[in-house]
Amino acid sequence: MNLSVPYHLENYIDGLLIAPLSGKFIDGINPATAEVFTQIPDSNEKDVELAVNAAKKAFPSWSTTPVEERFKVLNRIADLIDENLEALALAETTDNGKPLWLSKKVDIPRASANFRFFATGIMHFASESHIMEDKAVNYTLRQPIGVVGCISPWNLPLYLFTWKIAPALAAGNCVVAKPSEVTPVTAFLLSIICKEAGLPAGVLNIVHGTGQGCGEAIVAHPSIKAISFTGSTRAGERIASLAAPKFKKLSLELGGKNPNIIFSDCNWGKMMNSTLQSSFANQGQICLCGSRILIEESIYDKFKAEFVERVRKLTVADPLDENSRQGAIVSKMHFDKVMNCIETARQEGGKILIGGNAVNPDGRCAKGYFIEPTVIEGLDCNCKTNMEEIFGPVVTLQSFKTEEEALQLANACDYGLAATIWTQDISRANRVAAKVESGIIWVNCWLLRDLRTPFGGMKNSGVGREGGWEALRFFTDAKNVCMQL
Ligand code: NAD
Repeated sequence: MNLSVPYHLENYIDGLLIAPLSGKFIDGINPATAEVFTQIPDSNEKDVELAVNAAKKAFPSWSTTPVEERFKVLNRIADLIDENLEALALAETTDNGKPLWLSKKVDIPRASANFRFFATGIMHFASESHIMEDKAVNYTLRQPIGVVGCISPWNLPLYLFTWKIAPALAAGNCVVAKPSEVTPVTAFLLSIICKEAGLPAGVLNIVHGTGQGCGEAIVAHPSIKAISFTGSTRAGERIASLAAPKFKKLSLELGGKNPNIIFSDCNWGKMMNSTLQSSFANQGQICLCGSRILIEESIYDKFKAEFVERVRKLTVADPLDENSRQGAIVSKMHFDKVMNCIETARQEGGKILIGGNAVNPDGRCAKGYFIEPTVIEGLDCNCKTNMEEIFGPVVTLQSFKTEEEALQLANACDYGLAATIWTQDISRANRVAAKVESGIIWVNCWLLRDLRTPFGGMKNSGVGREGGWEALRFFTDAKNVCMQL
């Protein structure tokens, strides 16, 4: 199997790799070098129509394929991802700018884990029954929905694309999927893998293009009955407005502005190592990154001094360099957005303790989009910098005196995706965990993921939950059958 990246990517429709009907393409840019390295199909509603027709045609057979068979083919896809780890990781890094070691260690292994997890999951999936003593028995049928749409973002490209596709396919649906037009390459390579793995034609269709031109056509298509979306709150709002009047099932995983709450009794070394990661992993471009660091007043100065010194040592460099701890920001557009946010923080009176500037590494990356990891203090909890998602290597420090104040700060913004709590006091950990308005809470750890757990946010961070049974329930329709005894 050849997993080299061609200059022109193609859509994957009805088992075939085909060019967009319009013949139009979008430049694919390596953010570490600012060079165009590929062309991405600029698909529109006509390509989506083809994909939907292929999916509809494949549905009767795929939805009745025994779970043991679905398990086998999805597991084969996972095997092929593992066997091609090196090529996929290099493609991900070239497309996204993240360090190559990170693509190898996290992104690609997680993509195969997603397939393996849901391939196995569907073998164990069960539905409920409710007995009415001697009157009747109810049982719940959980049936595949039909054709579903999956739309994913650029920050964890293959990782999040497969996190949706795998449960949708495992549950017996046929899928029309769109990766981000900013990072579509590994999704294209996945089409080649699916062909090789023997996934029947039309079961998965991958259509490339922009949110407006292609994404909205997927959301609006009358034959697509459910949409699973991960991306910005702004796009989520638009998608909800298109899908709600058609009564489509919706799962929306949106933005975050996560608090990292540090109490003075924390395990200092563990907290410091994890906080560096939760602040700057993937250049801060993970929806789960803790961008608001809340520190108990008695340890604020000590934390600030040590944290800033540790941040100073994070090497911003070519993502192919093994020592790179910070790769490139994903695109010029996002680079400009993050730099503007830093400027806003300055104007709001924030003090930049470290970072705040663009970086131009030597050599091939001289024109790439790199930003120093940035730490800011002295801002009010209600300012733009502390209220709006930046989604880059930028964190703010705020201090608190009491547990109540920590909670007030944590819950001050409109997002509610994830939070981290650092304390050795188990009662406090439980109290605070129950009161923080977030869908995901980590106590004395960060990004420790069990794929069986419910994953998703509250408030403006989204609607619905992914992961484990939640995902398999989302991708099936529940039907109650009541039989009188
Ligand atoms: P984005 O919303 O711009 O795009 C995400 C995807 O949606 C892309 O494929 C895009 O083409 C498509 N899209 C955009 N507008 C659309 C529309 N009107 N109709 C249909 N599709 C549309 O987000 P992004 O910039 O790619 O990703 C970053 C955002 O994703 C951040 O806000 C981040 O917090 C969020 N995110 C959330 C999670 C989570 O699990 N909650 C995970 C990762 C990223």
